[in-house]
Amino acid sequence: MGSLYDSYSAYYSDPCLRNADRLWADVYLYDFSDYHEFCQQVSLLRKQFGSRKSLGEMSLTSSGSMGLPRHYQLGPHALYWIFQLERAVKSPEGTDSIIEVSSPLMFVNRPASFEPVTGDLPFPIRYTFRYSGDHRDYLSVLFRHLEKVDVPFVISGLPNTFLFLNAHKDFQSFVQTTRVRGLLSHDWEPFYRKRELIASGVHINDNCINWTTGVNFFTCKANQKHFFPLFVVESDGLINLMNLAEEPINSVDDLVEIGAQRSQCVCGRWYFPLRFFPHVECAIRNRLGKIVFDCELPEKLMAKYLNLQIIQTEERINIYNVTQDVNTEDHAILEDFLRSNDVPGEIVFFSTTSAMCGGKLPTFWAGRYFPMRWYPSQRFI
Ligand SMILES: [Zn+2]
Repeated sequence: MGSLYDSYSAYYSDPCLRNADRLWADVYLYDFSDYHEFCQQVSLLRKQFGSRKSLGEMSLTSSGSMGLPRHYQLGPHALYWIFQLERAVKSPEGTDSIIEVSSPLMFVNRPASFEPVTGDLPFPIRYTFRYSGDHRDYLSVLFRHLEKVDVPFVISGLPNTFLFLNAHKDFQSFVQTTRVRGLLSHDWEPFYRKRELIASGVHINDNCINWTTGVNFFTCKANQKHFFPLFVVESDGLINLMNLAEEPINSVDDLVEIGAQRSQCVCGRWYFPLRFFPHVECAIRNRLGKIVFDCELPEKLMAKYLNLQIIQTEERINIYNVTQDVNTEDHAILEDFLRSNDVPGEIVFFSTTSAMCGGKLPTFWAGRYFPMRWYPSQRFI
């Protein structure tokens, strides 16, 4: 076995910061040449050490985007791992500043704000932009703030934020011509991407870190997902190799599949293909139980959505579609998409939204869904 296994072995025997640092160096540079053997051996090793509650130096709570938040411990060296992994997946090409841009509908009755985020995160500058005024002014207000940032930065947002932003030519050319180094999206296929953006070389980094399971990935400039060997996929769950404070095996409802073939990406990194789909339990399914999802769908849609959610309940599909510019052709496109995928149930359109659920604002969602706020349709017409 290679040096990565040895580093895990040393770290588990003596989980000091020096060993964590050595382990991270090997994790970061791992070339996946003995990956299958590594997974087998390291999962046995991790199970031997079991749960060591005393090492849980940090208590975390998951976002609760599936309904109920989950509480768990992370450790040892929780902050060390958070720092290294956040930086590695959110800024794979170097340490960038991050501007988090909220969805135009995320905050109600708040003036525009552009606030630095303080804390111990590994980015030189981190700002949050929030705006819930007149949505027609959203882009110009955003640009006014971004133009003042004098270092390269990435723009981070949730699916509906990018669905809205990427539909605007002004935003696309802003991303292509200014200091923006790329777009950062969170653990959904870039449903909100646009072909023009990718074709023009904009780096769209869809990324994820799940601190309970250790699952992580980022998307490189060549549009390939890569992950760090900090978790092992087993038939009955996932093993978080960073965390000694909890039981080794974590059950999970995300779809995580790792392909069999090792390849070298044009970016230079060696990798095994990773397929990830969050919250399988809440995914929309067709009559045969197959997950219905197509990240090409928004390429066909014409309207500029402030919010689009397709929510499957027992009897029907509710489509909440709040747009800046009502486009009835989109209704036919969405209906056709659902029918051609054999999704059962009556399709009902609403010009309202029940967004604001949890942290992820997914566009496709089924069953267990908890609307928190409702907007009267006239507000947006
Ligand atoms: Zn790559």
